[in-house]
Amino acid sequence: MQEGIIKESPFEMAQRQFDNAAKYLNLKAGIKAKLRVPKRELTVNFPVKMDDGSIQIFTGHRVQHNLARGPAKGGIRYHPDVTLDEVRALAMWMTWKCAVVNIPYGGAKGGVVCNPKKMSVREKECLTRRFTSEIIMFIGPESDIPAPDVNTDAQTMAWIMDTYSMTKGYSVPAVVTGKPIEIGGSLGRREATGRGVMFTTREALKHLNMPIEGARVAVQGFGNVGAIGAQLLQEMGCTIIAASDSRGGIYNLKGLNVKDVVRHKKETGAVAGYPGTDTVTNKELLELDCEVLVPAALENEITQENADSVKARIIAEGANGPTTPEADDILFDKGSFVIPDILANAGGVTVSYFEWVQGLQNFFWSEDEVNKNLEKIMVKAFQDVLAISQRREVNLRIAAYILAIDRVATATLLRGIYP
Ligand code: NAD
Repeated sequence: MQEGIIKESPFEMAQRQFDNAAKYLNLKAGIKAKLRVPKRELTVNFPVKMDDGSIQIFTGHRVQHNLARGPAKGGIRYHPDVTLDEVRALAMWMTWKCAVVNIPYGGAKGGVVCNPKKMSVREKECLTRRFTSEIIMFIGPESDIPAPDVNTDAQTMAWIMDTYSMTKGYSVPAVVTGKPIEIGGSLGRREATGRGVMFTTREALKHLNMPIEGARVAVQGFGNVGAIGAQLLQEMGCTIIAASDSRGGIYNLKGLNVKDVVRHKKETGAVAGYPGTDTVTNKELLELDCEVLVPAALENEITQENADSVKARIIAEGANGPTTPEADDILFDKGSFVIPDILANAGGVTVSYFEWVQGLQNFFWSEDEVNKNLEKIMVKAFQDVLAISQRREVNLRIAAYILAIDRVATATLLRGIYP
């Protein structure tokens, strides 16, 4: 990440993206004002007994942006930089994301300010269980369904599901998605976001008449989304020339063996030091000469400071909010093809939806069925967004927002105002 640059408030950025697209829809002031702000926000401060016997107070948030199309859906993030502002933005993006792929959810997000890398497993379990009980009035299979996000995983979801179930007195698997297969998780969920990045990148390459075989890809953020996206793109024929995580990046023009880099990261905690590669900073990685750039770390990475130096023709946003609106304009002007986050990374929430449906019905699908249904939804959403962008002569982000906002506004107006 660039140092010394004050990053924009993610929520203001989310609102500006909304405003940029809403003007194409001739929405009335009332509905616009409603959709610009979250419906509900809950902030909790709670104690956790640490391994050394001390008590630490943690702050967590859960924000529900919009419920017009169904229950709220969104991940929970553990990170030292979590703020209410960021969670608001992420909740709003979830509303649009669910609407772009047309699944019956509204948007939510949660986060706890903590540094999980410095916590033991027991401390993380206590934090997760107590946070769950603090927000338990918000969540539920019919109301708000959490999922993993940065620094949370299937184990975290298992603790949330167990805590919720203990309070109810019976098992409620559909209260979370992204949980382990053994307790009702869906096959293909872990890989779903990366797989969605792969499907949308494939469609973009085809649309731009660019060869898939040998397309050079750089991936920033080598976690769930980045590493799996890289692996699936490699299996499809692309050459992954660079990868990075919070400790820096690696580069090899001949291509990385993604599976082996994953093993190296598992063993050493970082991609850095992988044999046979040069080092590259996160800033340099974004500016590498390649066909596809996959930002899959955090927000505000491509800004007006560096957008002009981004050489990739296709930018597939695995992360949420990696590109600022100013950077978007610069990229559009120079002909870059940005697959916006609410489309590119919607594979995760789509298979979360499949997991929720399977949990409610107690009827589980094969992995092949999951992946085929995911592909159908992702390709349709890509084509829908592309068609709007061509018809309206706007970039794909505005097109995706137009599609999403229209669906959410229509649902909101149909339901009317209570009382
Ligand atoms: P993760 O915790 O599994 O991985 C994040 C990766 O980014 C790690 O490798 C970390 O080291 C790296 N990273 C952190 N800060 C960095 C920095 N400044 N520069 C470079 N790398 C950095 O998280 P994830 O689930 O893969 O999520 C990544 C992004 O994708 C987030 O924006 C998240 O909101 C978004 N996303 C995730 C999912 C999902 O299903 N997991 C779905 C949709 C969107």
